[in-house]
Amino acid sequence: MAGPINEFTQVTKFIPETFGEPGMRTFRINVDSESSTANIWLEKEQLAELSMAMLQLAKETPEAKEDTVGPPTELEAASLTNLDFKAGRLAFGHNPETNMFIVDAHDPEDDSEEPTVRIWLTRKRLNHFAKNGLEIVASGRPICPLCEKPINPDGHYCVRRNGHAKVYPGEL
Ligand SMILES: [Zn+2]
Repeated sequence: MAGPINEFTQVTKFIPETFGEPGMRTFRINVDSESSTANIWLEKEQLAELSMAMLQLAKETPEAKEDTVGPPTELEAASLTNLDFKAGRLAFGHNPETNMFIVDAHDPEDDSEEPTVRIWLTRKRLNHFAKNGLEIVASGRPICPLCEKPINPDGHYCVRRNGHAKVYPGEL
């Protein structure tokens, strides 16, 4: 059967979290939906990429029609589904029918090719997650307004300036 193994359509919490000392940190997405939960562990780079992809797609999709069609709540995972896994593949997209955003996470230990869980997100929840995600990744470093990547104290070569010009925190 095609389709994700679990779907979270009634999300009440979707937040990035980090644990541990600087340099040794671990990262996860903490999700609650109806009576189910998931902890999806991921690499820092995955969190950074996901957060940036979210901000980008949120900009590119229309804000109108929000919530005119709800998420497919009939697909909601069985009550008390509690997932805890380290994400292999992560996919992210926009569903035009509902104007909601979708995160698919795949547990490499699952034999299925289908996502282990599909999470349905509103624009508000998505933006909130993405901003927190970038802050966590940057851990206090300022975010470059041009490329939305963290800037080190000694500056960074901004891809939006073709990687030539260095952008310094003091310039912002
Ligand atoms: Zn930049």
